[in-house]
Amino acid sequence: MSPDVLRNQQVDPATKVVIIGGGVMGAATASFLGARFGIRATVLERDASYARASSALSVCAIRQQFSTEINIRISQQSLAFYRDIGRLLAVGDDRPGIGLVEPGYLYLATDAGAHVLAENQALQAQCNASVALLSPAELLVRFPWLSVDQIALGSLGLSTATSGEGWFDGYSALQAFRHHAIAQGARFLEVEAVDFDVRDGAVQSVLTAQGERVAADAVLIAAGAWSSPIAAKLGFDLPVRARKRDVFSLQAPGPLPGCPLVIDPSGFWFRPDGEAGQFLCGSPPRGDDVDDAPLDKVDHGLFNDWLWPRLAERVPQFDELRVTGSWAGYYEYNTFDQNGLVGRLPGVRNAFVAAGFSGHGLQQAPAVGLGMAELIATGSYGVLDLSPLGLERIAANAPLVERNVI
Ligand SMILES: Cc1cc2nc3c(=O)[nH]c(=O)nc-3n(C[C@H](O)[C@H](O)[C@H](O)COP(=O)(O)OP(=O)(O)OC[C@H]3O[C@@H](n4cnc5c(N)ncnc54)[C@H](O)[C@@H]3O)c2cc1C
Repeated sequence: MSPDVLRNQQVDPATKVVIIGGGVMGAATASFLGARFGIRATVLERDASYARASSALSVCAIRQQFSTEINIRISQQSLAFYRDIGRLLAVGDDRPGIGLVEPGYLYLATDAGAHVLAENQALQAQCNASVALLSPAELLVRFPWLSVDQIALGSLGLSTATSGEGWFDGYSALQAFRHHAIAQGARFLEVEAVDFDVRDGAVQSVLTAQGERVAADAVLIAAGAWSSPIAAKLGFDLPVRARKRDVFSLQAPGPLPGCPLVIDPSGFWFRPDGEAGQFLCGSPPRGDDVDDAPLDKVDHGLFNDWLWPRLAERVPQFDELRVTGSWAGYYEYNTFDQNGLVGRLPGVRNAFVAAGFSGHGLQQAPAVGLGMAELIATGSYGVLDLSPLGLERIAANAPLVERNVI
């Protein structure tokens, strides 16, 4: 990403922007509003510990292996930012580090899904995202620890100037945006937004649970999995729900050299977590994907009965795993089409939304945060046109179909 994105432009810096939710989306937007436009946002974050925020409970991976151009471009722009985050979000001598590594994502497909990987790779190549299609024999050369039983094709994201896939420390990224935003003059208030004063089709102020009114020229709803109830206060039915996802930490007998984030055709995934044979794994839920399932109830049956046998089939060494930990977090799940809902909130002149990222929000935060800052400050997108993610697609019943949702 060019350093130009952090240069101030002529916008009224006295504009009062109130952001509801101080997770990675809200914090990134506040950081760009300050750095690029001189706007000192007020961020309402009800829990400064981020105990339940998705940004603190994420698996924090980034990829360009999407099937829609907008998601590929967002991820490329965000990757460039994350690669250079120490410089771009430096506050004085403090250069944040997020430990980004780029071993790639490896999607595996059976005969039935091989054509999908090939079609996706063609689009990714058009976007300068470098993805190698690998036969079973080629997979075994690169990853001798893998079983290619039933596998017809793999696709592996490669690191180049314009692409790269891997993972990083998402909590550090969140804190880097937050510290940078504060250094630009943003205020983070530990309060809950509960309602709005609306006059003549525009929000005048945001009401907090403590009964305060925070005056607003513009308001951004970036409340993650909890965005829907707050959007409902503005009369909009936002199709975003809190859907629990379980993550298991594993100790294997040893490391798997060169191991990328592997996605099995049956839906489960695993990736290394450090160097010494530690891994993370998870899968989409096997039963009903209910709303608001309690986060303290990790489904260990999912691991024992379903995940572990399949892990051991794909990587024979995983037969001897030990579970060393687990946690659950909410996907801010967009039930309409599992993609970000980004842009103006229909029906209210000065309200905006960035929510519903359905498991790919941490990697999209730099590009979406910049886009939201541009839209709020200037009325239009600049570096990247995010309008394919606009909320208008809901009323038009025109879902943005993304085939690679994990
Ligand atoms: C298990 C798991 C794995 C994931 N893996 C990946 C991955 O590999 N790659 C990836 O890119 N993404 C991944 N994600 C998704 C990613 O973490 C999210 O998309 C992203 O963190 C969303 O950021 P956010 O700021 O929108 O939401 P959050 O981080 O949830 O922040 C929203 C904030 O809003 C606050 N809030 C809510 N309501 C109010 C209110 N009324 N008033 C004030 N504050 C309020 C909350 O306290 C919260 O802190 C994963 C998520 C989970 C749970």
